[in-house]
Amino acid sequence: MNAAITPQPGILDIALYEGGKAKIEGVADPIKLSSNENPFGPSPKAVEAAQATLGHLHRYPPIDHAPLRAAIGEVHGLDPERIICGVGSDEVINWLCQAYAGPGDEVLYTEHGFSMYRISALAAGAKPVTAPETDRTTDVDALLAACNDRTRLVFIANPNNPTGTMIGQDDLARLAEGLPPAALLVLDGAYAEFVDGYDGGAALVGARENVVMTRTFSKLYGLGGLRIGWGYAPKPIIDVLNRLRAPFNLSWTQLDAAEAAMRDRTHADFCRTENARLRVWLADALRAQDLKVDPPMANFILARFRDREEAEACDLFLQSRGLIVRRVAGYGLPSCLRITVGDQASCEKVADAVAAFRVMA
Ligand SMILES: *Cc1c(COP(=O)(O)O)cnc(C)c1O
Repeated sequence: MNAAITPQPGILDIALYEGGKAKIEGVADPIKLSSNENPFGPSPKAVEAAQATLGHLHRYPPIDHAPLRAAIGEVHGLDPERIICGVGSDEVINWLCQAYAGPGDEVLYTEHGFSMYRISALAAGAKPVTAPETDRTTDVDALLAACNDRTRLVFIANPNNPTGTMIGQDDLARLAEGLPPAALLVLDGAYAEFVDGYDGGAALVGARENVVMTRTFSKLYGLGGLRIGWGYAPKPIIDVLNRLRAPFNLSWTQLDAAEAAMRDRTHADFCRTENARLRVWLADALRAQDLKVDPPMANFILARFRDREEAEACDLFLQSRGLIVRRVAGYGLPSCLRITVGDQASCEKVADAVAAFRVMA
């Protein structure tokens, strides 16, 4: 290789994102609980809308995403002019890093924060920095203490993945208020819909100039495979991000399916209600097997074992029963497993398998 041909600083420091396992050797139909996907799938109306686009794929899709932004605006009570749509919220996270951080700058997030923050920071040439959490929960004081005049972006997922914990509105407001003047707070609301009465930080975005919210169709809406997310931000920030957005970043299929999914409140409410019921049931069932579980706020549970060996042994046992969950050692949580809350039958299978693992051990 020609040594003169080298990528930009930071790029080679990126470790490739590891997705949740999807297969088990020798198991035909495993139950995949490793990527926080919606066990009920997307709204049938979204599937129908996606199919209807297949007849005009020779036409470029609209550039402005106006109908999708209008649907999001109506449902969430937000100004569509301050919404931007991307290829998953991952793309919005990328734009934010590209636009607001570069060499010499710092991008701050918490100890067990989502791995895309580090990847996007490095891709932009900026330095990823982590602040400690307290009891697996975002610690506003630790984040503020880690800020300096090089801090450009502060990412927190609320609820966070993989911990499943969250902080309240007062803490969010205190964080936004305490940041240095050049730093932007990004509230990653990938799981906001799963929290009753939580707006994902939308009101805080509306009230301030230094807060952005990201959301996704990948979790509650069951469209992870289609790749659609969105951001809500002050207008000047939307104007910046739109300069980075490729004009045709979203296809007809993505746009029309997402709009139909957003407008189908019946399906969304059903998925939310089932998840709220089942996550409590599963958390209790796991606690009954002597696992430690923080109150789950999203569509997954972080189960804490005695140590790494026990967690890995349980993971292998679950796999032998056709259940795929997520190891989270890469997130600094080697003695934990992250388990997506599936449908009732999957939750029961997980509970039964963990109980059987306990009997064996
Ligand atoms: C799943 C997830 C996302 C969503 O990513 P998409 O690109 O929208 O699929 C964002 N943030 C966190 C913390 C997540 O867990």
